Amino acid sequence: MRADVITTLRAAGCVFAEDEADLLISAAAGPDELDELVARRVAGLPLEHIVGFAEFCGRRIAVDPGVFVPRRRTELLVEEAARLLRPGSVVLDMCCGSGAAATVLAAHGGVEVHATDIDPAAVACARRNVEPLGGHVYEGDLYEPLPDSLRGRVDVLVVNVPYVPTDAIALMPPEARLYEPTVALDGGPDGLDIARRVLSGASDWLAPQSRLLLETSDEQADTVRALFAAAGLAPRLARCEERGAVVAVGQRA
Ligand code: GLN
Repeated sequence: MRADVITTLRAAGCVFAEDEADLLISAAAGPDELDELVARRVAGLPLEHIVGFAEFCGRRIAVDPGVFVPRRRTELLVEEAARLLRPGSVVLDMCCGSGAAATVLAAHGGVEVHATDIDPAAVACARRNVEPLGGHVYEGDLYEPLPDSLRGRVDVLVVNVPYVPTDAIALMPPEARLYEPTVALDGGPDGLDIARRVLSGASDWLAPQSRLLLETSDEQADTVRALFAAAGLAPRLARCEERGAVVAVGQRA
């Protein structure tokens, strides 16, 4: 049975056919369901939407169909944020999607975690991940849904905005293009529309000495650095070649 599943997945172009087969087999209640799950994968659905979770920073994060799948590269954003946590730190995960970053940071314990997203499907999913760990999730555009009590109190602002330039969305793999919402990908003409809005609104919410961490790309890194500096955030870049990750970390004076 396992061998058949592997052969089917490999023929459909799945590079990690063995790993995927094992995940599908353990997700299926029986042979009929397994056939159905394999058929969905062959049709091109993201594996994470089929099994209902993604592995991220060593945890299983629930990912509902239609919700942005947490990327391995985003682990760098979370690792950099985790290094900054102190007892009682206030963390805000903006554009949280499934809430992967908020979940991992909340699991550190002893910190206050908040998360926001504009997409109701993402918020419902993030609530399932984050609330059991004591975090709070709000639905709305960037800072708009946040409680006033958070003003000036955010110590670590973690942001994975949609940053794909609009014209580049057509070049993304079908799993992203067809099964993830455009609102989670489209960053406008140069990919930085939402990043600019996050940076221009940050000063009302950041605490003194706080940090803002933003996932970006090699192409955007120089512009992002300039945007951070213009927003009064002394920037540095963290990179992980292996995961293709670039994170801008800005410190507020
Ligand atoms: N290039 C990123 C990815 O697909 C885009 C993610 C995003 O826009 N946040 O991993």
